[in-house]
Amino acid sequence: MKIRNIRTTPLLCKFKQDYFWADGVTVSSPVVLIEVETDEGIVGIAESGVGPTIEPMLAVLHDAIPHFIGKSVFDGNKMIWDYFQSGFKARGVGSQYRFFSRTMSGVELAMWDAIGKGIGQPVCNVLGGAVRDKVGYFGFVQGDTPEQLASHAAELAADGYPALYVKVGRSDDLDVAIVKAVRDAAPHVRLRLDANEAWDTLRALRMLERLKVFDIEMMEQPVPGIGGSDALLRLRGAGVPLSADQSVYLPEEVFEMCRSRAVEAIVLGVHETCGAMRWRKAAAIAEAANVRINIHGIFETGITTCIANQIGATVPNLDDANQIMWQLLDEDLVESPSLKPVNGFLPVSKKPGYGFELNRDGVARAHEAYLKQQTWKQV
Ligand SMILES: [Mg+2]
Repeated sequence: MKIRNIRTTPLLCKFKQDYFWADGVTVSSPVVLIEVETDEGIVGIAESGVGPTIEPMLAVLHDAIPHFIGKSVFDGNKMIWDYFQSGFKARGVGSQYRFFSRTMSGVELAMWDAIGKGIGQPVCNVLGGAVRDKVGYFGFVQGDTPEQLASHAAELAADGYPALYVKVGRSDDLDVAIVKAVRDAAPHVRLRLDANEAWDTLRALRMLERLKVFDIEMMEQPVPGIGGSDALLRLRGAGVPLSADQSVYLPEEVFEMCRSRAVEAIVLGVHETCGAMRWRKAAAIAEAANVRINIHGIFETGITTCIANQIGATVPNLDDANQIMWQLLDEDLVESPSLKPVNGFLPVSKKPGYGFELNRDGVARAHEAYLKQQTWKQV
């Protein structure tokens, strides 16, 4: 199965409503749709996550793609990292693994879809088989004010989500009001918070003291990730279990974080690791350290939900409250299956590849939106 062509389509997928978090207000997800076409006419589909803008990622993809044409989809491991060594790292950009990973992840992931479709098996079987038949997701509480967030939390709890997830790090008193309102609206759910690196150590200690009375199951990345495990380690006595997100992208960073014993879970997306192989390596390192792995969601569509569901199903130490983002979109790019969790869980597809049908009309509209883009606004 040789690669005949790799198509890249830049897309801007608008959110249904403004998305409020510690980093401001976001209004859309920029992604690059990746389609790997083989000489047998099979098309493997994935997407690359984008940050901060599409154009530099497209430039790297367009630089890389000619080196993949004519090669076998079974040589993904070698092709991706040969390009990293000779095409990316060697040409003066140092070791920007994170940017490289998010850019090239769509190519790596699309090749798995092509392999699965080519041999008539779901990607989880190609990767050695699923260890579960469904994957769990948290209810992602949306809104601006405590009242709006509490109202959505009550809806999500009524939908059967056993765990809810709320963004904090906006301002201290507002955060406390939000968490109190959500806890009052959903008194029996497991509650997780994410401050997206908004606090320094002292402020994080103060906020954890104020927030822990609301029975917080996990606090995600309250302090900047750039320092690795050190800042998280200093919060160990605060009485709330911690997880690492921005601190960790690469298997090597997972190793360092696990060795530090700073966190109970690592939140990691398949784009951050440059696809399935390195995500599973990262999960295996965490498993050896008795640390859970969570599927991270960032700006992405239901395509990534389908991908992560298949890959996540293959690792034993996957958490049961993972992140999806497609539901924030005004229009998703997956036509079928339904990606709405039932009581917080999505079944693992048995169809070939990642098992989804692309919403081609939605892709065309998202491409139009990219051409007249607005990805963020100042607050
Ligand atoms: Mg996070």
